Amino acid sequence: MSKQIKLSALQGKVIAIDGPAGSGKSTTARRLASKLGFVYLDTGAMYRAVTLFALRNGVSVDDARALETIARRVKIRLTGEKVFLNDEDVTKDIRNPEVTKAVSPVSAHEGVRKAMVAQQRAVAKDGNVVTEGRDTTSVVFPDADIKVYLEASLETRARRRLIDFSRQGISSTLEEQMKDLAARDEYDSNRQHSPLTRTHDSILLDTTNLTIDEQVERILKLVRIRVKNI
Ligand code: C5P
Repeated sequence: MSKQIKLSALQGKVIAIDGPAGSGKSTTARRLASKLGFVYLDTGAMYRAVTLFALRNGVSVDDARALETIARRVKIRLTGEKVFLNDEDVTKDIRNPEVTKAVSPVSAHEGVRKAMVAQQRAVAKDGNVVTEGRDTTSVVFPDADIKVYLEASLETRARRRLIDFSRQGISSTLEEQMKDLAARDEYDSNRQHSPLTRTHDSILLDTTNLTIDEQVERILKLVRIRVKNI
């Protein structure tokens, strides 16, 4: 088969990408979705939107009941580029440092996760989705057609975050970023419900020395191989 992917063979498929913060999941998944004409489902953005709502309303990150209620009631809409919370564009706000700090404890609550997972499955009910997060390959879409686990060294991930932050006009240091990422990874990997894990059927891709274009190309190669076998 040529380098062209037979898109009809991909109809209804789900591609799920998990990995730690800064491993390149968002950019890779977004580009992949756009190349395949799929919907891009950023599950982290959903947890961030719930966290933003909680912070704005003075709800503690430990208040499981209140957070579950928020997760069930708020309206989150993802358009690929933008994130809306109750119809307000919160694309930028959900990336602020306060949300980034609070999002792991908020998303560790089982009730919050149940509400989000239900919405994520609803978005993907007809397939044609590229999704990414921490539990998309393990819990949300255990039957995903293609599963990838992205990782990269802590320093590389911290450097990427630093660039992201400086683009947003937020000043930080490499040390600060390394500390924050390590703490978030530790939290996300050791929580009781849906911890970050690499499933046995996920293909491991180390992005430490890869550009975004190379990452996307590697996954597309995988998709081509799978399509042949589907
Ligand atoms: O991917 P991103 O860094 O935006 O995710 C923010 C946080 O949301 C993660 O650190 C994690 O705590 C939580 N998350 C999660 N499950 C997902 C996606 C994100 O718990 N599927």
